[in-house]
Amino acid sequence: MGSQEVTNWQGRNVTVAGLGVSGIPAAKVLHGLGAVVTVVNDGDDDRARAQAAELEALGVTVRLGDGATLPEGTDLVVTAPGWQPGKPLFAAAEAAGVPVWGDVELAWRLRDLDGREPAPWLAVTGTNGKTTTVQMLASILKAAGLRTAAVGNIGVSLLDAVLGEEKYDVLAVELSSYQLHWAPSLRAHSAVVLNLAPDHLDWHGSMEAYAADKGRVYEGNRVACVYNVADKATEDLVREADVEEGCRAIGFTLGAPGPSQLGVVDGILVDRAFVENRQKNAQELAEVSDVRPPAPHNIANALAAAALARAYGVPARAVRDGLRDFTPDAHRIAHVADVDEVAYVDDSKATNTHAAEASLAAYESIVWIAGGLAKGATFDELVARSAKRLRGAVLIGADRALIREALARHAPEVPVVDLDRTDTGAMLAAVQEAKGLAEPGDTVLLAPACASMDMFANYNKRGDAFAEAVRELGA
Ligand code: ADP
Repeated sequence: MGSQEVTNWQGRNVTVAGLGVSGIPAAKVLHGLGAVVTVVNDGDDDRARAQAAELEALGVTVRLGDGATLPEGTDLVVTAPGWQPGKPLFAAAEAAGVPVWGDVELAWRLRDLDGREPAPWLAVTGTNGKTTTVQMLASILKAAGLRTAAVGNIGVSLLDAVLGEEKYDVLAVELSSYQLHWAPSLRAHSAVVLNLAPDHLDWHGSMEAYAADKGRVYEGNRVACVYNVADKATEDLVREADVEEGCRAIGFTLGAPGPSQLGVVDGILVDRAFVENRQKNAQELAEVSDVRPPAPHNIANALAAAALARAYGVPARAVRDGLRDFTPDAHRIAHVADVDEVAYVDDSKATNTHAAEASLAAYESIVWIAGGLAKGATFDELVARSAKRLRGAVLIGADRALIREALARHAPEVPVVDLDRTDTGAMLAAVQEAKGLAEPGDTVLLAPACASMDMFANYNKRGDAFAEAVRELGA
């Protein structure tokens, strides 16, 4: 099914792979357009049956308990982004010459359905910092008076954004590596890959495949491919991308920017990319203190957001105002309280080692609370690079031994409390132990470098438990 044919959905046989947050709306929209929709789903539990009943009432066919077989006559598969490329359904689609689109591809193809000029997309991907950056970007665009929203892998689905009542001038789009994998024809106005560290390798199969999927975000960019000067892999992806004539490579750096870069000079965020005569001139955008929290990795996020906004033509003043207006989401380097001259900071969202390393780099003297589910990660690099900042460490969770061993190897002088607990109440004990290790001026930092599901429903609950424990300390 080529792009020229998709304006007419009447009678098209579309298989939607996966009930769920993207599958159900996709099935409804496609059915509404006149397609003959079959949903296939691996699971067959009560929830799936209830969802299936709802769709069947509309006239959609649902096959529960069989997500592997391609229904006869399928013209197109629309898959949930999380479905692994190795699934037999996709092999069958490929053998039959049937294209596979993800939720983002579908939204991209439907974006001009109402016949109006669709809003361009400013796209953000990377291993860490996506949500923060896309929210900063939306805040900057709003400060410029533009109608916009932060959408994608962040709550508001792209399908809703492109088909909803609300009309946008431009969209700030967060994209995961899974979504990019299944979005072959997406062409952003401008895009950034914030950073690249091993993550989700079980899904992608290798680091190369993961990087290649992230790199798709640059394909066909019209104005700017924004990369991280400190992360060469992101620059390599720009070099490999096939972009529109005239599209520029724009770097962001925490140091002084060269021409065609944004960076920091004497506590000021400056732009040497979107200015007249960039060999000589620079435009002041904002102060570092306008970025909250002013942790190094977050300043990098702000520069990336600023680069995309400037690529879209936003004035410098809006960058400053947008950054000032921005409030970070919970559990991302959130300052909970000071107790006895020790700061308690919740970065429960640091669920992988790359994120935790950025978090640890933001403080001088830290009592680190870490542990949980390692997801196959190793901790040697993280601990070796962060050792000099550690006053002590308190370990919780299922895979804490991996961190303990890394500490023993690379930071043997750092006192470690191994709580040997995975119950929910362990967080209070961890905070109490951390208090015992901390000196005035230190930061007790929850940056687990692990997923939370061994002890908590999710990272939010883990962060809430930390904040609750800190409140008990202070009481
Ligand atoms: P994502 O949407 O990519 O998961 P978030 O903005 O939610 O990113 O941030 C997740 C965590 O990643 C933060 O809590 C912080 O620990 C870390 N982080 C944020 N920005 C960066 C960055 N630019 N580089 C490294 N780590 C980061």
